[in-house]
Amino acid sequence: MRLDPIVLFDNGSHKCLCFDSLVTGDEVQSNQFLIIDHDEYLLFDPGGDLTYTPPLSLELSRCIPLQDLTYIFASHQDPDIIAALDKWLLHTRAQVICSKLWARFLPHLTAGYLSISHNLSVFERIIPLPDRGQSFRLGRCTLMAVPAHFLHSVGNFQLYDPVSRILFSDDMGASLVDDAAPVENFEAHMPSMECFHRRYMACNKACRLWAGMVREMNIAMIVPQHGRPFASPPVIKAFLDWIETLECGIDLMTQEDYRLPA
Ligand code: FE
Repeated sequence: MRLDPIVLFDNGSHKCLCFDSLVTGDEVQSNQFLIIDHDEYLLFDPGGDLTYTPPLSLELSRCIPLQDLTYIFASHQDPDIIAALDKWLLHTRAQVICSKLWARFLPHLTAGYLSISHNLSVFERIIPLPDRGQSFRLGRCTLMAVPAHFLHSVGNFQLYDPVSRILFSDDMGASLVDDAAPVENFEAHMPSMECFHRRYMACNKACRLWAGMVREMNIAMIVPQHGRPFASPPVIKAFLDWIETLECGIDLMTQEDYRLPA
């Protein structure tokens, strides 16, 4: 098993690292991302206990002083995104950035004893994002929390890094494969994404509006949380063309899907 992260971008003072092989076994392959800028550190979608104990915390502490982690960015509320919240709060000083829709639900992932024995106020460590998203500083750069609501969670954010021009797209573009090597042939890759997007994304309207936003952005790479990134202009275009017309979620629901089970 390769533990060293994939270096997505590195100009000396700004780095984007991808840990792609910390989840092994029956669980869905998932990528965790670390952005470093001038001694500040952001961890994107760190995951649950599967990744926390011990691989990710161990690997991170090889790259940065773990307790000095600045932010944890949770694209949404799912177990593979942020389930190990209590451990991150306990072992780092990080603040947690997430949709305002989840800010008051995430504390349910933490044990009550933390606030008593460790004098730790979970609410004070959470930065709730408004629906339209916002920019924020990391080191000397500015990152953007970009709306991706209903793709798939009702309160969903992606992260755009204007320095590397990487869009960390969370579940958008996710594929059920075992590695994070860049997509070379979109047509051959598409079947590994199709079932997931048809069922997990809420509707075509959300996909279309999102693609419209992304087409206006200056993007070098779209990097999902599961599977392979889109790292060249033709592949990014092919993905946007596909997702823009995909029928999914409630588009596909009929009365047959809302019946008492046999
Ligand atoms: Fe999810």
